[in-house]
Amino acid sequence: DLRSVTVLIPGRLHEQSVRRIGETFRLVAIDTIDAALLTDEMKATVRGIAASPAIAGGLVGPDFMRALPKLEIVANFGVGYDGVDARHAGANGIMVTNTPDVLTEEVADTALGLLIATVRELPKAEAWLRAGNWAAKGNFRLSPLSLRGRKVGIFGMGRIGMAIARRLEAFGLSVAYHNRRPVDGLAYAYHATLKGLAEAVDTLISVVPGTPQTAKAVNAEILKALGSDGVFVNIGRGSTVDESALAAALADGTIAAAGLDVFADEPNVPPALLDAPNTVLLPHIGSASVHTRRAMADLVVDNLIAWFSDGKAITPVPETAGIGHNR
Ligand code: NDP
Repeated sequence: DLRSVTVLIPGRLHEQSVRRIGETFRLVAIDTIDAALLTDEMKATVRGIAASPAIAGGLVGPDFMRALPKLEIVANFGVGYDGVDARHAGANGIMVTNTPDVLTEEVADTALGLLIATVRELPKAEAWLRAGNWAAKGNFRLSPLSLRGRKVGIFGMGRIGMAIARRLEAFGLSVAYHNRRPVDGLAYAYHATLKGLAEAVDTLISVVPGTPQTAKAVNAEILKALGSDGVFVNIGRGSTVDESALAAALADGTIAAAGLDVFADEPNVPPALLDAPNTVLLPHIGSASVHTRRAMADLVVDNLIAWFSDGKAITPVPETAGIGHNR
């Protein structure tokens, strides 16, 4: 009986996940992801966690998991699960799930919107109209940059990277990529290093996960390789970028422009990036439509239901894919 299974929601989570978990399981909640807030009763009963670490505050790390000895599964809201220590979970027989696929097309749409907004200065053009400048001063300036003829490099040719690449092809642009290894049977040019990719293209779209290996991977050297006509778009994770190097590269013309949906210390945006004239900055809205967030909320709950009724998760992360039901 799923009503006897206790599921913990630490911090804020999509209302549809909260409602369905409350209808299906025995729901307990605390304000943020902090082991100090757990009651003895929670420690004795919690078998599942549903969390959106990015908005919940805190990380589902080793201390938090250790404080819950009956814990079997952490259902993460979002495909990026840098808020959950999945290696620790995997080593301790705890399943971790994320929400892949249901958000892929939405995030790719946002990436293309951000790319075009950045290259063609759409937010500035709209501000020009709204300020009354069109009537008072005339046409908005011709955009110095164009999408035409651009060579785009995708850093992270995974589910979302592929969806972005398909759109870029439809736009008539060339696509190349860097992953740790080439994707079998994929015709786009592969570069074994990020630097090699940056040298070969003038537009770099980052959509890798936030991991220790990708931390500050986009640094001064990569931006220099991208070049003075270069456009950098980040729809992946802010931790992947050395933000001070990026602000400096924008300020001194090392690259031409940047469109950023994600930042290293959200919701704090470095003043140097806010001050750079040639940036379009979005508040992490890649998947943020009512439609797609509902699908993500459902997948969080469906993973918990599948785990506690069939002993199998629907979308386990790779670090925990081999874990079976332990009771
Ligand atoms: P996938 O796992 O399908 O793709 C990730 C890709 O990154 C893989 O192709 C992988 O290839 C590559 N990669 C991983 N680590 C490295 C590395 N160290 N060096 C080079 N390449 C690497 O994930 P998705 O496409 O579904 O999602 C990607 C990320 O996008 C998420 O993890 C999340 O952080 C972010 N995201 C952001 C959103 C937003 O709102 N802005 C919304 C949704 C996702 P390989 O393993 O061969 O290296």
